[in-house]
Amino acid sequence: VKVLLTGGSGFIAAHAVDELLKRGHDVVFTVRSDEKGQKILSNHPGTPSSKLSYVIVKDIAQETAFDEAVKSDPPFEAVLHTASPFHFNVTDVKKDLLDPAIVGTTGILKAVKKSAPTVKRIVITSSFAAIMNPDKPAKVYSEANWNPITWEEALRSPGDGYRGSKTFAEKAAWDFVEKEKPNFDVVTINPPLVLGPVVHYFNSLDAINTSNARIRDLIQGKNKDGIPPSGLYLFVDVRDLALAHVKAIETPAAGGKRFFVTAGYFSNGAIAQIIKDNFPQLADKLPATIEDETPKDVYGYDNSRSKEILGIEYRSLKESIVDTVKSLLAVGA
Ligand code: NDP
Repeated sequence: VKVLLTGGSGFIAAHAVDELLKRGHDVVFTVRSDEKGQKILSNHPGTPSSKLSYVIVKDIAQETAFDEAVKSDPPFEAVLHTASPFHFNVTDVKKDLLDPAIVGTTGILKAVKKSAPTVKRIVITSSFAAIMNPDKPAKVYSEANWNPITWEEALRSPGDGYRGSKTFAEKAAWDFVEKEKPNFDVVTINPPLVLGPVVHYFNSLDAINTSNARIRDLIQGKNKDGIPPSGLYLFVDVRDLALAHVKAIETPAAGGKRFFVTAGYFSNGAIAQIIKDNFPQLADKLPATIEDETPKDVYGYDNSRSKEILGIEYRSLKESIVDTVKSLLAVGA
């Protein structure tokens, strides 16, 4: 299948590129600059341009950002939309988080409808942020749950802004399908915290992706005096998530569905303990006693749809953390 992958420079997208190529697909990814595009290509030496190439899309917050990128020869058959801001370093929640998430999502859907009639499926990286209700946790979270956040609440802080951005962007996608009845169907993938090895075009530990930052902080001794609260308690390994995205393109029965993709529980304390047990040389970077602050009545989760329809078998927290730490040590953490 020929796939347009948005946000090619991202942490999750890096693994999606690997998985797409491994499973025989052709990939055109979007990046904001030639520099980023060339860097990614240079990490896949020997891969012909018919299999892997890029197009520039500078700012997904612009309504027409994807209008040219969706045109290709031979034409695209599927789109994987991962691009969306995931950081809390923002001054204007609407401009920095909400607009690129929402306009980015509606923009790709509109551009495909207008100019890429051969696309049959669009897979969108949504989030557990669009499922969970931080104020009133569900007993068991599944695809049936929606974050009830309002626009006003989303504007309160960068954290609320991020959760709002994912919720409103995903809602906009389902609304689009209902109202516009396009020639393609949509699948959303809703992961919680994504952990896993950093690969390829990784520039600097300071610029590490948001979800792995907690592991970097632990191994650099930043939490020696106390481990910060986890914030949420479910994770997925990025390699399983990448496979879920590709399976969502390949599996007809996935069409029109959300997928809550999670391996199970984690906590910062559990991560620290795994590091301590497996990397004795890092023990002095960690607190002497590690406490697990996971609440006793933490919410449940139901990931059965992802196993049944996408066939995902999840990696354990231990495997995920050990491989992530190895990858960080390899780049000098
Ligand atoms: P990254 O920050 O590594 O990737 C984000 C990507 O989006 C980058 O390629 C970035 O480009 C691109 N992007 C952001 N804003 C714009 C913009 N205005 N114009 C063009 N491109 C833009 O994060 P992840 O890989 O972790 O996230 C990928 C997706 O997964 C996002 O949709 C995120 O919400 C979702 N997700 C992530 C989770 C996690 O724990 N990591 C959990 C749940 C969902 P550039 O590098 O040039 O800035």
